[in-house]
Amino acid sequence: MFIQLEFDFDGAELSEKELLAIEHLGMASFRGLHFVVGSRSLLEKLSVLPQLSNFSRVAFKRTLQRLPTFSGLRPAGFFIVVKRDCLEETRNGDLVTAPLRVFSDEIWTERVELLCEDLSDAQLYCELAQRYVQLSPYRGLQVSLRPLGGGGTNVGVELEQRKSQGRVAICVADSDKWHPGDSLGDVAKKCLSVASEALYRLCLIILPVRMIENLLPTSWIAGTQTGRQSIEQVRFLEQMDERGLIKLRRFANFKDAVLICKLIRARPRSDEILSDIQSFTGRAIEIAPCEDGLCGECHFMGGLGGSLPDQVLQCLPNIGRCEVNAQITDGFFPAILMDIVGMGLAAAPIRV
Ligand SMILES: [Zn+2]
Repeated sequence: MFIQLEFDFDGAELSEKELLAIEHLGMASFRGLHFVVGSRSLLEKLSVLPQLSNFSRVAFKRTLQRLPTFSGLRPAGFFIVVKRDCLEETRNGDLVTAPLRVFSDEIWTERVELLCEDLSDAQLYCELAQRYVQLSPYRGLQVSLRPLGGGGTNVGVELEQRKSQGRVAICVADSDKWHPGDSLGDVAKKCLSVASEALYRLCLIILPVRMIENLLPTSWIAGTQTGRQSIEQVRFLEQMDERGLIKLRRFANFKDAVLICKLIRARPRSDEILSDIQSFTGRAIEIAPCEDGLCGECHFMGGLGGSLPDQVLQCLPNIGRCEVNAQITDGFFPAILMDIVGMGLAAAPIRV
């Protein structure tokens, strides 16, 4: 997080809680957990404050030296201004104001968590956010997040626990919508009910597509697929992209085989997806010939399996850096990655 220290003190008047808070902020900076910055005069004072640990003092001193490097750097999303003369945490748009003593809580010495239904989804978002922050003209920035899988559909419960503990976390949830106008799935709804009352410590992103598989560029998926059948499925995705069948591309469940009979029988019915399939196959679809795809007529395309995010994560280093960078700065990615960077922004840890 982008944490800006905007207070002053005269050594004797800092309370024990405030000293502990400054120590935590110094350590967070030292370990590269948050981006902590302040005015030159404040950092000068903090870097020689005798009540702090050596590590904290070194961190404030290093921040002071790095100040010219970061001049003009603005937070990606919301940021925290730390004051001594405010009573409680408040949020006004992107600006959160927090009293210094709040940071005496141990949670500020821990890494911000990135929570998803599956660990591999969280790891992939972390990797992409890291690449996104490296596109910034400022050197020495990183994204510091702890990727966590929330045990599948339990992610809302996990988020609720973090809220009750006052922890700092970001959650990326699949919308599980069958089509653009569909209502959110149960997992996303639960997450939304938990995060909607949170001031700033919980950030929730609900994907504008059905699931992470719908977000991944076809060229990344292509890198993970081998074998004749898989390559054929990638060809299907490429054709959807080429022909602009975006509803199908964004809302079909590609983990499993896409079966026309299932889409016809689904409630709510996804007419927009069916119309994309109709335009893909060139034949009218009105009644479902069977219930389970066994008639052979309903099989639209084979499933890509459940481990695609993990496979993409493994294959990403083989895809050219420029290509990945072009994709994460286009479409839905910038808005998603900007929120993740906002929660996980940190200066590189200090090596002594
Ligand atoms: Zn059938």
